[in-house]
Amino acid sequence: MKAMLLHSAPRGELTVENVPDPKCSDDGLIIKMAANGICRSDWHEWNGDWGWLGIVPYKYPMIPGHEGTGVVAEVGKNVKNWKVGDRVVPPVSVGCGTCPRCVDWSRHNMCETLRIFGYHIDGLFAEYAHAPDADYPGNLMKIPEELTDMAAIASFGCRYQTAYHGVVSQGEVKPGDKVAVWGLGGIGLVAVQVAASMGCYVIGIDIFDEKLELAKKVGAHAVVNAKKTDPVQAVKELTFQFNKQAGANVSIDALGIGETALNSVLCLTNRGRHVQIGLSTREENGMVALPIDVMTAMELEWHGTLTMPYPQYGQMMKHVLSGKLHPEQLVTKRVSLEEAPAILKSMTEFGTFGMEVVEF
Ligand SMILES: [Zn+2]
Ligand SMILES: [Zn+2]
Repeated sequence: MKAMLLHSAPRGELTVENVPDPKCSDDGLIIKMAANGICRSDWHEWNGDWGWLGIVPYKYPMIPGHEGTGVVAEVGKNVKNWKVGDRVVPPVSVGCGTCPRCVDWSRHNMCETLRIFGYHIDGLFAEYAHAPDADYPGNLMKIPEELTDMAAIASFGCRYQTAYHGVVSQGEVKPGDKVAVWGLGGIGLVAVQVAASMGCYVIGIDIFDEKLELAKKVGAHAVVNAKKTDPVQAVKELTFQFNKQAGANVSIDALGIGETALNSVLCLTNRGRHVQIGLSTREENGMVALPIDVMTAMELEWHGTLTMPYPQYGQMMKHVLSGKLHPEQLVTKRVSLEEAPAILKSMTEFGTFGMEVVEF
């Protein structure tokens, strides 16, 4: 089969080559891939980031990719819940299905032996992929019949589920909340769309006008270009205009650089909630200074978020089927596997726009 290979990091060769097809395990299944998104996490992997988190490829060359969807092509002999022909999304992180966090907490995203496609197991930039432990309910999402655009569906595997969980569960947004979203890449745009669909007043912040325009299209009520104005001040003014109280109730850092993490905290009103979705780069090495006295005196809350615990899959699908969320609006480019390495590398200059997705 054809697959993308990352030969080393940081910034090693990325090639598309013929490799042996994956073998089906007794508890797993094989997916014939239909689409896989090019995610900023792939760029982080190419960049050699996240060693400080223990998230590094277990071997090289590695097949990257963790945001895909496809059709079941083969099932292992112990698998009972899936059959050939089912359309599935393997979520970015796979649970063991036996540890207390997978079983008692139903939080496979916190699994004691967390496996991420493209890091700890072979990834999804390939014509076929192996999904392990297929019967554990966290490890595959079933695609509702009504949804047909596989490039948009691929986003459920990473960006959509991550932003949805961040906004809904960790951000706990309510109708009427003022929500600031910092960084309008794929995750940020989903966060805008989800918060707007829930009746929030949403402000999107980025440094590229075309990303700000797209944010308006998917639901942002106001946008701020942080290159042209002091963005914290701008959020304070916009929120004051909205309800005569300055500051956001919920602020989301969808990027993960020191500046956006700090600005996100600084734009909050008293008792506001910050949600960190973006993970940092080699520049920060996971360390960012925050104004703890201000956070303490204002009773601010700081929340991390990682992918999505599986009991929420159904809620997200229902929300999409209700017609209030439109994943397909975020797909800006459909490309071949051969085009993907160059697009991935262009993320150094923030060269991508919305979700750029490989179709097989
Ligand atoms: Zn991703
Ligand atoms: Zn587990």
